Amino acid sequence: MATIDGLPPLRAVIGTHGLSARKALGQNFLLDLNLTAKIARSAGALEGHDVLEVGPGPGGLTRGLLAEGARRVLAVEKDPRCLPALEEIAQAYPGRLEVVQGDALAGDMLARLEPPIRIVANLPYNVGTELLVRWLTPQVWPPRWSTLTLMFQREVAERIVARPGSKAYGRLALLAQWRTEARIVMSLPPEAFTPPPKISSAVVHFTALPEPRYPADPKVLERVVAMAFNQRRKMLRAALKGLGPDIEDRLLAAGIPPTARAEEIDLERFCALARSLG
Ligand code: SAM
Repeated sequence: MATIDGLPPLRAVIGTHGLSARKALGQNFLLDLNLTAKIARSAGALEGHDVLEVGPGPGGLTRGLLAEGARRVLAVEKDPRCLPALEEIAQAYPGRLEVVQGDALAGDMLARLEPPIRIVANLPYNVGTELLVRWLTPQVWPPRWSTLTLMFQREVAERIVARPGSKAYGRLALLAQWRTEARIVMSLPPEAFTPPPKISSAVVHFTALPEPRYPADPKVLERVVAMAFNQRRKMLRAALKGLGPDIEDRLLAAGIPPTARAEEIDLERFCALARSLG
């Protein structure tokens, strides 16, 4: 069966190159090229953009990114078995795909790309959360990337976009929403993947804000938020008492009732509290 880019269908690619999915590498592949094109489009316009793709696997999403017009794709894949399949894609798109074999957690690939940069990935879930936190906490802001379009397990996606007052609201929501506009752009059932994982997934699209939504020192904000949510059922005056004897006054000055709990407090007030402690 012909495909849009003239390359073999992904099931054939997997068969030819013996890419049986390995659990240890979190391999749940997307084999529907219509779906991977849709995910690529959800990243925004790709013409004139360099793209960092982490974990291309057999290359379904990579093909989507190239077919949708990415100027250049740098793809980092840990599993050497995938390299021949990715090489075939590189040949079909001369000069536009570079593949690096290695662990995406080991090095900084962004330095190799020219802005504007979009990051797109369908990654194992644990690696995805770790990379997300790194991408959201660079030395300087704004970061080198302008958008992130990442697959997460649905429950993690909901934690990222959660609002105050909900169970899902916590450190991840505050970190993501402080410096980006984050929204869920697609939901995927387990059957979208081969093999199907046990849980549903969702794609989250993040746009980097030119500067954080409210001023605060990143380290102080992280510390306050971590302390507040580590004991999320406690009143804040108790959860944060390690921050000093005058914590009640500081809470009040930041507009936070000392008897409130962390999940009731919005980002603006956490930033005000961090400023008073910074
Ligand atoms: N993007 C492909 C797709 O959508 O079909 C593959 C997705 S699969 C969920 C995750 C991919 O990430 C696998 O190909 C796996 O080998 C790769 N991977 C796992 N850990 C990695 C790491 N630390 N660095 C780079 N790639 C990794």
